[in-house]
Amino acid sequence: MPRPTSAARDKARRLLEQALGPSKVLTGEDACAAYAEDESEAEGVTPDAVVLAETPDDILAALRVAREASVPITPRAAGTGRTGGAVPVAGGIVLSTFGMKSIKEIDRRDGVAVVEPGVVLAELHAAVEAEGWFYPPDPNSQADCCLGGNVAENAGGPRALKYGVTRDWVLGVDAFLIGGQRIHAGRRTTKGVTGYDVTGLLVGSEGTLAVFGDVTVGLMPKPEHVMTLMTLFSDVRTAGDAVERAVAAGLLPRCIELLDGPTLEAMRRAGNAIDARAGAMLLVEFDGDERTCERDAERFGETAESAHALEVLVAQDAAQRARLWSARREMSRAVRKLSKKKLSEDVVVPRHAIGALLEHVAMLGERERVRHLTYGHAGDGNLHVNFLWDDDDEVPAVVRAIEGLFHEVVRLGGTLSGEHGIGVLKAPYLPLEQAPELIELQRDLKRVFDPSGLLNPGKIFPAAPHRAC
Ligand SMILES: Cc1cc2nc3c(=O)[nH]c(=O)nc-3n(C[C@H](O)[C@H](O)[C@H](O)COP(=O)(O)OP(=O)(O)OC[C@H]3O[C@@H](n4cnc5c(N)ncnc54)[C@H](O)[C@@H]3O)c2cc1C
Repeated sequence: MPRPTSAARDKARRLLEQALGPSKVLTGEDACAAYAEDESEAEGVTPDAVVLAETPDDILAALRVAREASVPITPRAAGTGRTGGAVPVAGGIVLSTFGMKSIKEIDRRDGVAVVEPGVVLAELHAAVEAEGWFYPPDPNSQADCCLGGNVAENAGGPRALKYGVTRDWVLGVDAFLIGGQRIHAGRRTTKGVTGYDVTGLLVGSEGTLAVFGDVTVGLMPKPEHVMTLMTLFSDVRTAGDAVERAVAAGLLPRCIELLDGPTLEAMRRAGNAIDARAGAMLLVEFDGDERTCERDAERFGETAESAHALEVLVAQDAAQRARLWSARREMSRAVRKLSKKKLSEDVVVPRHAIGALLEHVAMLGERERVRHLTYGHAGDGNLHVNFLWDDDDEVPAVVRAIEGLFHEVVRLGGTLSGEHGIGVLKAPYLPLEQAPELIELQRDLKRVFDPSGLLNPGKIFPAAPHRAC
């Protein structure tokens, strides 16, 4: 999409200031530039204005101005996205719902919470757990990311293995359409099958169909007990073998996180003391009643040992658990320090194909001479394959490695994104996985919600002709 004309940009700024007042509208070049990027390598175009929404009426006003001035508008929450979903590709307006931070309701009778889109996930976790309830989705960015972004990306996380992803917990959502309509999709009951599942469609729509206000999520009783194990292996193959054996034995931990050798090296460099012999780690967590956790953890330990684990460590208390998880959550930032640039590809393969995929990644790295490392949610086959580089002249090799990865993922029966979405970075590759008819059907849906194509343009769908052809 081309950048709007300067007349359209001026009109948008003027209308925004009239509708919202200067305190909720940023127009300075430097202030706006901060909203042209997220936690991906996507390169944005500095927006002409940023709206700092505080109320549903602010959202509606921003959408109305975008329509009247005919400028693109890009919703944004915390900006931790990995595929450039919140990055404006043609300037225009960025609509931030980051300031809408109220947890409006935690209903203990029904196990339901209603939250605004700017609530930080870790704060929702803490609030519901203080009441004895539990909201399972747990992206590793939980200290920063917001519910609005989680819903738009259908975020997952380590606990998705047992509890599913954001879509499995969103019961309903207030959605504001570019045409000015405000709809409430969904319900607040656990069950309900009235009409099409519009909520399910909106969850994961990456800010391209509607802007979210209040989100209604289901809760479950907080598990009585949690047990965390760290197991070390000489290499990823033996670690993968342990995962397969454990699942085949009927064990269902709430997480099985895999970290390969180069990832462990990055963590060592960041100050974590990890046995030098280890070339892979599994971080495994069980929850439930105490006796079941102990029994399952013991069985997992035996399985890991039969798969030649170097060491099996059980966290002895909450502080040890927290240390293990904080190292895991900070790991992505430790990896970032290894090179000037990195792309973290979020792919999923059937669990049995994890070993084959990792071998293929090693082959690609060698063939293209690109540094790489892999970590992720091995329990559900969702791996983050990271390619690292320093100089621009390495980019063609990185692109070849990424394309080789995507082809192999699809060949193995997998999918191009498990949780980070398609955004702008993966849009050229969508046709590798999806047939033209399916993509066209989704474009038709987009036109129903957004006939003018102003809401978060440039995301999900490839600009024709696409790279996969
Ligand atoms: C260190 C690190 C670890 C991560 N780990 C995980 C992980 O384990 N699992 C996982 O799933 N992701 C992970 N992510 C990715 C990211 O945190 C998630 O995609 C998260 O859901 C994005 O939330 P956000 O608030 O930052 O959204 P943003 O980045 O601001 O936006 C993401 C998308 O949501 C849309 N959006 C934002 N707010 C709204 C709204 N109110 N209405 C409509 N659309 C909206 C935007 O347009 C954009 O398309 C990680 C990221 C980092 C940096």
